[in-house]
Amino acid sequence: MIEDMLRTPAAVQDAERHTAHNYHPLPVVISSAEGAWVTDVDGRRYLDCLAGYSALNFGHRHPTLIAAAHAQLDKLTLTSRAFIHDQFADFCRELAALCGKDLVLPMNTGAEAVETGVKVARKWGYQVKGVPAGQANIVVAEGNFHGRTTTIVSFSTDADARADFGPYTPGFRIVPYGDLAALAEAIDEHTVAVLLEPIQGEQGVVVPPEGYLPGVRRLCTERRVLFIADEIQSGLGRTGATFACEQDGVVPDMYLLGKALGGGIVPVSAVAADADVLGVLRPGQHGSTFGGNPLACAVATEVVRLLATGEFQRRSAELGERLHAGLRALVGKGLVAVRGRGLWAGLDIDPALMSGREACERLMERGVLVKDTHGSTIRLAPPLVITAEDIDHAVAQLAAVLAG
Ligand SMILES: *Cc1c(COP(=O)(O)O)cnc(C)c1O
Repeated sequence: MIEDMLRTPAAVQDAERHTAHNYHPLPVVISSAEGAWVTDVDGRRYLDCLAGYSALNFGHRHPTLIAAAHAQLDKLTLTSRAFIHDQFADFCRELAALCGKDLVLPMNTGAEAVETGVKVARKWGYQVKGVPAGQANIVVAEGNFHGRTTTIVSFSTDADARADFGPYTPGFRIVPYGDLAALAEAIDEHTVAVLLEPIQGEQGVVVPPEGYLPGVRRLCTERRVLFIADEIQSGLGRTGATFACEQDGVVPDMYLLGKALGGGIVPVSAVAADADVLGVLRPGQHGSTFGGNPLACAVATEVVRLLATGEFQRRSAELGERLHAGLRALVGKGLVAVRGRGLWAGLDIDPALMSGREACERLMERGVLVKDTHGSTIRLAPPLVITAEDIDHAVAQLAAVLAG
């Protein structure tokens, strides 16, 4: 322990001194980055296999996105929504087209997109479905991660995320993820929405059983309930498609987007839905000072254009095969299980070998950055610009760590 502290670089201690301890970062202090690689204050390079929890799908400082940000900084950065700016229309039109929806509502963080989805679903329930005032309920899944606000942690099943933050917001029902019968049971005439991650990222990249998402879609349609897909982490290329839902042949009523939408430069989130849903909001009922600002729109429009080419989705699908093949070969050699899709993997390390945290620290010493999630589970989500060689490098370093 004392030895560890002596080896802790001064820059790490500096970063902790006046900081609330709501995170337990790996002891690396990064000062620059490009593509899939970052460099620390001592000039050591690391392969970034977390990519800002998928906020950096296009890598660090993608040239097209940096150029858009630079150009916009020289023209206009903020107007508030009190006025219209010239970057707004293109962003909303192109994102709506990418989503196959009529309308877009821009916000900043993922949690705000979730909050927006909850508000819109409730208002839709009262105004369109005819739910009696104050009676709306929303069904969510066990093991969910939708953000950190007081309402969102109210329906979390993670004790750390939830404990001592009550009183909790009512109106949510929690069912086991992947269990259609439980979902059917939970939906009643006052249910306005089912809110799900098509793949549960924070939970350890948990892919639901075959047929689950189509079943959710069918139930929602039959019972006149909105299907809200939280694609904040799974969407925008991560799984090898624009949306994870797409790979199950499912179209939700509402997409919640964030993370990669800001190109790793600015926080940008959005809700996309058709006019019969998002159209329930009138002026004064919802908003954000920074949501849809010119800088955010300029960057995010280029993100949408990068995705419109299909190149990143293809890379994720193809390189994902390589990543998963490499990881599967380590099952029984230190790994207990591998899950995921595209360039996204949840790995359960044999808990007898080491914790997830220890694995991350040892990988860091070998120049690969990843993050543990729960216990002995770690998550790999490299930028979609990563090369095949770099994937092989990451897998080789993991193999070395597992071999002791
Ligand atoms: C990260 C995440 C959020 C919350 O996004 P923030 O920008 O951190 O508020 C919500 N849902 C999912 C699935 C996420 O991965």
